[in-house]
Amino acid sequence: MKYFKETLYDSICQEFRIDKLYFEHKTDFQHLIVFHNAQLGRVMTLDGVVQTTEADEFIYHEMMVHVPLFAHGSAKRVLIIGGGDGGMLREVLKHPIEHVTQVEIDQTVVDMAKEYLPNHSAGSYDDPRLNLVIADGMDYVRESNGQFDVIISDSTDPIGPGEILFSENFYAAAKRRLSEGGVMATQNGVPFFQPDELRTTWQRMAPYFEDLCFYCAPVPTYYGGFMAFAWGSDNTCLRGINLQVLQGRFAESGIATRYYNPGIHSASFALPQYMVDALNEAN
Ligand code: SAM
Repeated sequence: MKYFKETLYDSICQEFRIDKLYFEHKTDFQHLIVFHNAQLGRVMTLDGVVQTTEADEFIYHEMMVHVPLFAHGSAKRVLIIGGGDGGMLREVLKHPIEHVTQVEIDQTVVDMAKEYLPNHSAGSYDDPRLNLVIADGMDYVRESNGQFDVIISDSTDPIGPGEILFSENFYAAAKRRLSEGGVMATQNGVPFFQPDELRTTWQRMAPYFEDLCFYCAPVPTYYGGFMAFAWGSDNTCLRGINLQVLQGRFAESGIATRYYNPGIHSASFALPQYMVDALNEAN
């Protein structure tokens, strides 16, 4: 029996039994594997790191999309950086937005996700509101002059092609793509095992946003407890938005979710003490 062994950490790792291997290939940018596991369903890994599974992807995608979009309340233009599996796009397109640009570096990830993880994108790659750009997200935010109400960075970890998406240059350039009062949300690792990622993101994003903080949610196959998401905006009122307002927007939207609700939205900004301590050390 073959097992996938994650290689993100030195002394600890998680293993998933490969019950059926669908695809394995070294693309121009990374080592891509898609397989089936009896408990997790289809699983996608890149460079030895779990990216997404059918069993728990809803938690990650719903929290990275609905928190900034329901807080903003009237977003029309959204930018997704990365997100090749299509789960982020699926959730964004549930909102009455007019346009979404997705900038993904690796065409093969998009193609293999459409073929072997069809429930992630659920046909979203055919939506007429989508502008799919196959390019490095850093180049796009630096060179384009588009403006977006919400920017979501759904990147790999800060290794390989994803490293540049955790740089100060990326945050500075992405901020220039953000329309007035807009919100940026980024995946920011699992602080229990990756506290440096929390500290460095704080230090690198702080010069560019009036309001910078983190919110979190547990994603079972991201080993180590809570996943952290960075939140950056110049609109300092959005983070603490009134719960009744959120409940009204959520009810009116008719959007079905399996993790996200207005209560967990508000609660997700309450960080455990070890994250607060890590951030205090960054100051
Ligand atoms: N949820 C996952 C996580 O938290 O680790 C991320 C999932 S998503 C599949 C990550 C995507 O980022 C991949 O499709 C990868 O190709 C893309 N990516 C990595 N570096 C990139 C870059 N510099 N520009 C655009 N996309 C990038």
